[in-house]
Amino acid sequence: MTNIHVVWLQGQGCTGCTVSFTNATHPSLADLLTGFIAPAEGVILDFHQTIMLPWGEQAIQVLDEAQEGQLDPLVVVVEGAIPDESTARETGGFWCLSGEKDGEPITFSERVDRLSEKAALMVAAGTCASYGGIPHGRPNPTGAKGLLDYLGRNWKSALGIPVVCVPGCPVHGEHLAEILAHAVLAVREVLPLPELDKEHRPVHIFRHTAHENCPRAGLFADGKNSHEFGEPNCMGLLGCKGPIAHCDAPKRGFIEGVGGCTTVGSPCIGCTEPEFPDRPYSPFLAKAPASFFIVEKIHGIGGSLGAVWSRIKRRKI
Ligand code: SF4
Ligand code: SF4
Repeated sequence: MTNIHVVWLQGQGCTGCTVSFTNATHPSLADLLTGFIAPAEGVILDFHQTIMLPWGEQAIQVLDEAQEGQLDPLVVVVEGAIPDESTARETGGFWCLSGEKDGEPITFSERVDRLSEKAALMVAAGTCASYGGIPHGRPNPTGAKGLLDYLGRNWKSALGIPVVCVPGCPVHGEHLAEILAHAVLAVREVLPLPELDKEHRPVHIFRHTAHENCPRAGLFADGKNSHEFGEPNCMGLLGCKGPIAHCDAPKRGFIEGVGGCTTVGSPCIGCTEPEFPDRPYSPFLAKAPASFFIVEKIHGIGGSLGAVWSRIKRRKI
């Protein structure tokens, strides 16, 4: 099988998504790189500035080769947001660089532009890369954007594949590892690409809200609320944004099935959503808009009445 080349770029981010990705276990980074999943073998991580061995000119040469189309097929993973360099140029500066060529700095946005022309697939790893994340929080002084807005929602790769977003702050390591393995199979035309929602997230991971996946949802339904951190009940009154954020971490866990924000007593802060970290997800410990809880309660009451009614009907039969 043809080798698949992966170039992982890091822009306006904190490297937290890289750390999270290296903690993935099903599959792990080692599984992906050593061909443990047979149909997804032949993945070569050509460039990742945090974990690669080459450095300096040798490392930048890999990016140049990718830009010239020598690494084909090419999957580009972006971590971190992309700033608007035009505002930095007004004062003769720059926001974010990605190496240099002949002594001239190359901006991160320029790197994304060039590599996106050659990519079979562009994957946004984490919320910064997907939608701008923390760098684009108000007042967004650098004009930061995620890949989806930067390239445009209608952008398609040479293979006709749109930007795939795997948000999370940090990205869930297994979400990303799973999607990368899936993407490799899609580039090889073994599997279709996963269905994406309107924010370009894989539906099978982000279909349900954290609230729907939360182990405390039964306590919410019973009206049992935590009033202080450390109490074992629903954290809606402590600012949990689970009802308005799409994430399966409370059910899946974070590493090896362990963790997941609400599971371990931390309110959800909505880090997988395009508006994060702005309203309605912040202030993080302010209560989410009441309308969501009211609608949930009405659904809950409707569901309970429906269940009672069906039991009554069954007795009659
Ligand atoms: S999404 Fe969060 S963890 Fe990932 S690079 Fe951005 S700030 Fe860091
Ligand atoms: S509001 Fe938060 S803590 Fe409460 S059930 Fe929903 S997700 Fe879980």
